[in-house]
Amino acid sequence: LSNSSALLVTGLKKSYGGLAATRDVTLDIAAGHVHAIIGPNGAGKTTLLSLLSGALAADAGEIFLFGEAMHDRAEQSRVSAGLARSFQITSVFDELTVLENLQVAVQRRQHVSYGFFHSSAQDKEAKDTALSVARRVGLEKFAHQLSSQLSHGARRRLDVGLAIACKPRVLLMDEPMAGMGHEESGEMIALIQSLKQELTVVLVEHDMDAVFALADRITVLVQGAVLATGSVDEIRNNAEVKLAYLGEE
Ligand code: ATP
Repeated sequence: LSNSSALLVTGLKKSYGGLAATRDVTLDIAAGHVHAIIGPNGAGKTTLLSLLSGALAADAGEIFLFGEAMHDRAEQSRVSAGLARSFQITSVFDELTVLENLQVAVQRRQHVSYGFFHSSAQDKEAKDTALSVARRVGLEKFAHQLSSQLSHGARRRLDVGLAIACKPRVLLMDEPMAGMGHEESGEMIALIQSLKQELTVVLVEHDMDAVFALADRITVLVQGAVLATGSVDEIRNNAEVKLAYLGEE
């Protein structure tokens, strides 16, 4: 375990009946990196994120968050330790405003940390944090709008805001650019880039332009196994990867 590991994963296995969705996945994700996980449909990417978040129980393997064992902990306990999946913690309530949604997310974290009874100081903290997160994800001018009125891109940025309101140290992101046009994905790329200052991102994404723009390291999964891990250039120039996934360019 190197000192700079934010997330260390060894020998992670999960089968559905006879089908191995992940087999012996080992990953060493450095603090402050955006580490992308790519691979063809059915490669096991979503399964891997679910194993990391604790939504699914692994058959075997270990997970360490900054050296602390996560594999024997329940999902909520991993969130409290700082390992969170975007879209997992709180989902957007349509009938609440952007700011109210963010306040709910902060209050949930407060309940976990301090118990159910909260003080007026905590109310103020929740409001202040909600406002700063709204700014952080570029939603300040929509702060008082109902969430149901947001564009697709703005709603996905609110999802990210709900996750960062929980102050994760490692954020697991499952296809944040899905369904976005060029402009919206540009905004999401800028947001993820800015998150690197404060946390580590594990990014599952099909949009290769986004992956190449963001990733410090890329792991390629094929049929549940790690085919290669490397820098953007190493992965782009890896003949096996080209053959298995990227196609000749
Ligand atoms: P995609 O890019 O299409 O989202 P993925 O890389 O995320 O795919 P997974 O969704 O993790 O892949 O699926 C890995 C394998 O496990 C696939 O063969 C899939 O059919 C299978 N699988 C996933 N969930 C289940 C389940 N609940 N029961 C049975 N098989 C499953």
